[in-house]
Amino acid sequence: MTIFHKIISREIPADIVFENDRIIAFKDIAPLAPVHILFVPKTTLPTLDAATPDDAQIMGELMLTAADYARKIGIASDGYRVVMNCNDHGGQTVYQMHLHLLGGAPLGTFGA
Ligand code: AMP
Repeated sequence: MTIFHKIISREIPADIVFENDRIIAFKDIAPLAPVHILFVPKTTLPTLDAATPDDAQIMGELMLTAADYARKIGIASDGYRVVMNCNDHGGQTVYQMHLHLLGGAPLGTFGA
């Protein structure tokens, strides 16, 4: 059980900005941009590396939900970045797969 599962089950608080039956989205506790939201599937899926074709629908919904949210809060036309870290070298620290939405200011070039 990860910290994100505890947010899903309301065992710990979070600033939740979107939720449906399949996805929850909340503000990152240590934001790296003026807008930094995490989109998390409610089904347990530790990493992108663990995803299979059975996960294709939720992966797509995760992306589209982030894009919808960016439009809704008015950052889409200026632009934003979505990032998914995978495993140790990718910088993943919470092993429940999640998509970062970053925006609200110019983000600069994407570092390696
Ligand atoms: P990653 O490094 O891609 O696994 O991203 C994990 C993210 O979760 C980091 O950006 C953390 O700041 C964020 N995070 C960790 N704990 C919490 C929490 N309790 N509420 C919101 N965000 C969190």
